[in-house]
Amino acid sequence: MPSPDLPDHVRKLVTEIEREIGEDDFDGDGRLRGDAAERDGDAAEAELTRPIVGHGSLSTPNGPVEEAVREILLEIGEDPDRQGLKNTPDRVHRMYAELTAGYHVDPHRLINGAVFDVDYSEMVVVKDIPFYSLCEHHLLPFFGTAAVAYIPRGKVIGLSKIPRIVEMYARRLQVQERMTQQIADFVNDTLGPQGVGVVVEANHLCAVMRGIRKPGTVMTTSAVLGLFRTRDRTRAEFFSHLERRAPGE
Ligand SMILES: [Zn+2]
Repeated sequence: MPSPDLPDHVRKLVTEIEREIGEDDFDGDGRLRGDAAERDGDAAEAELTRPIVGHGSLSTPNGPVEEAVREILLEIGEDPDRQGLKNTPDRVHRMYAELTAGYHVDPHRLINGAVFDVDYSEMVVVKDIPFYSLCEHHLLPFFGTAAVAYIPRGKVIGLSKIPRIVEMYARRLQVQERMTQQIADFVNDTLGPQGVGVVVEANHLCAVMRGIRKPGTVMTTSAVLGLFRTRDRTRAEFFSHLERRAPGE
């Protein structure tokens, strides 16, 4: 369900993830509202996105979130009123809304008009998709690249949508394992393909900055469904795609 109460800067981000540049020309607001209205009966689908909730929306300057950030600054021995920190609570509040904008992306708007019937059953691979996410344990970034592959069963999705799917799940509080699975499940549910494979490689600042892992240590997660799970040859083909570097690298 669209969230009309989103602050402008978050709404803009959500719209960027949901829609291609220029898509506005094809989809009038009226039509989108109509689509949304049709879906209202399905509570499960509505739960896929949620509005910004809680006390102190972004339209309330000096609200409880700003106050909480001030408390953190005080706790670490800082002076929240000094010049450099004066607007930090407001900036932090806005930033977290942006970094978690993925909660508000409507997956139906994201894929709207981009699924095509095609008689093609070879592996489709989109790799080196950059993403930035926040670990839910520390609210620190983890970031890296994702690779998404599937073998169609009569349906394909526009290639440019796959990075948007990644972003929809990355812009949330996450653990890498769950994000990887969510991307795979979404492609699976949307296209009903013969199989899906997702590999995510990321650096976690909560590990690097806190010295648990050596800097540059990359965590790799994968999720495989259908033929990617059951057929060795398919899985091997997928992983061989990932090892091949682009020319010049
Ligand atoms: Zn963490």
